[in-house]
Amino acid sequence: ATPTALLVGTGRGAQLGILIKGPEVLESTRRIDTVVLDKTGTVTTGRMALAEVHTVDGVDADEMLRLAGALENASEHPIAQAIARGAAERVGALPAVEGFTNIEGLGVQGIVDGHAVLVGRTALLEDWSQRLTPELAKTKAAAEARGKTAVAVAWDGQARGVLVVADTVKPTSAEAIAQLRKLGLTPVLLTGDNEAVAKAVAAEVSIDEVIAEVLPQDKVDVVKRLQAQGRVVAMVGDGVNDAAALAQADLGLAMGTGTDVAIEASDLTLVRGDLRVAADAIRLSRRTLRTIK
Ligand code: ADP
Ligand code: MG
Repeated sequence: ATPTALLVGTGRGAQLGILIKGPEVLESTRRIDTVVLDKTGTVTTGRMALAEVHTVDGVDADEMLRLAGALENASEHPIAQAIARGAAERVGALPAVEGFTNIEGLGVQGIVDGHAVLVGRTALLEDWSQRLTPELAKTKAAAEARGKTAVAVAWDGQARGVLVVADTVKPTSAEAIAQLRKLGLTPVLLTGDNEAVAKAVAAEVSIDEVIAEVLPQDKVDVVKRLQAQGRVVAMVGDGVNDAAALAQADLGLAMGTGTDVAIEASDLTLVRGDLRVAADAIRLSRRTLRTIK
């Protein structure tokens, strides 16, 4: 390989938002057949968003979002921010709150449009002698069984609904995975999260192979195990927990939005935090190699 051609390749990489540690990295991309993808922060945003709105009969979902959203808008909690953002997107400007109180570890309360509103755990409602209807309790339990966070909403002495917040798949992830497949690579989803959540995310982006409930320190062993099966593995990750696995992989790709430790352990850094750039990176490296040979 001529050094000049390799440098041209890496320069083009920088334009695409890919930082390549050394030209020798390009060589290892040729034999890759498997791409292990970390879930949270890589395939998903790693940020909570409002995912579901459930109300009892006779309660308008937008009305509930106005009241609950207004209340949560006054709180800094990640659950509260997700609800306030989701509510504002759906119903527009949120009304003002009077007498806002944050009850640490339980939820929030306050007066919105003359209604005494509670948002939080079932225990918060019980403190006010309010109970979820059996139907809402079932909805809440089902969401929690899928690994999501569900909070209750009540006003004027009655439980009215349940809001579900969850981490969400990045809008570019499904296309990125389709592109990786087109390059002949098999995607594998790797996560410490529970099986139900992992499978739901995998289904959303069309990944068949899921390895869930892996402790942070065991991610590197998963990569070793795949390599022992004769697979040549690229790993894409963003977190501190991914550093050892990124270093063990035949090719380590770090999300530029991730931690310094992950970036340090990787061969390639994807500056934009967009998974499609992983496919770009592999395509570019292969093309650069072809030019050289
Ligand atoms: P964690 O243990 O995950 O840090 P917290 O102790 O902050 O969570 O809160 C525990 C639970 O209390 C949350 O899972 C949620 O059910 C409820 N909660 C706390 N704050 C809020 C809020 N602002 N809005 C809705 N629910 C809340
Ligand atoms: Mg906390």
